[in-house]
Amino acid sequence: MATIYIGIGSNLDNPLQHVRQAIAELGILSECRFLTASGLYKSRPLTSPLAPPSQPDYINAVLAIETERDALNLLDELQAIERQHGRVRDGERWGPRPLDLDVLLIDDKIINHARLIIPHPGLHERSFVLYPLQEIAPDLSIPDHDSQKSVSLQELIARCDDEGLERLHDA
Ligand code: ATP
Ligand code: CA
Ligand code: CA
Repeated sequence: MATIYIGIGSNLDNPLQHVRQAIAELGILSECRFLTASGLYKSRPLTSPLAPPSQPDYINAVLAIETERDALNLLDELQAIERQHGRVRDGERWGPRPLDLDVLLIDDKIINHARLIIPHPGLHERSFVLYPLQEIAPDLSIPDHDSQKSVSLQELIARCDDEGLERLHDA
């Protein structure tokens, strides 16, 4: 049985509602047991030359499930849920979207597949992922792709600016 952490984000068409509904949907995925969800957070969009210049704030949360399901098969289902929420993949990186579901961690596994990289590559430096994770799993240690060693969540948080992240309320 693997413990899987999933990051949820939305910044389009009533983001709070998309995130709440996504938590409910992920809570009843088949052959999965819901463990816990973080509170809801508000974050500023990532800035990058690749991202559009201005877009609405995001609502974020992280949740944990337990399952024996295959990770790629689970990713397929997460992407189907994104589509049901009106997500259209137009090739624009980090553009506004009604729902984004990222697989953050699967136990202490490292996966380098064309469609699935675990731990999620942005995890180590994104406050909107690290702070909600800390809320539900403060003692996590996170494997590093390069060194094959792991780093504690506490250490990543100590290195990370909170970037104006705001905790709104419980999910
Ligand atoms: P980022 O991945 O930097 O947060 P994004 O969420 O905007 O950016 P998407 O457009 O949602 O990126 O996804 C692009 C591709 O990333 C997906 O088609 C998926 O196959 C791949 N991918 C790789 N690793 C993961 C992962 N851990 N979780 C979700 N998708 C992943
Ligand atoms: Ca993402
Ligand atoms: Ca994504």
